[in-house]
Amino acid sequence: MKPRCAGCKKCISPSEPDLVLRRMAPENPTMTALRLVYHVRCHGAALKRAAGVPALWRMTHRYIEAEAN
Ligand SMILES: [Zn+2]
Repeated sequence: MKPRCAGCKKCISPSEPDLVLRRMAPENPTMTALRLVYHVRCHGAALKRAAGVPALWRMTHRYIEAEAN
């Protein structure tokens, strides 16, 4: 299954580095309530999304490593 970018709605190719934006549950900040994936180039959309309640969002850059395959 190919992940889709929550910013531009296009597929993110497996070879492309992506950005994972996770919204933590307010009642339990160690729990992920929502997980969104973005292209690195769409990070503007991700930042906009997180701007409302920045304390609840965790952003992670994920880069594909050659060794992972
Ligand atoms: Zn995108």
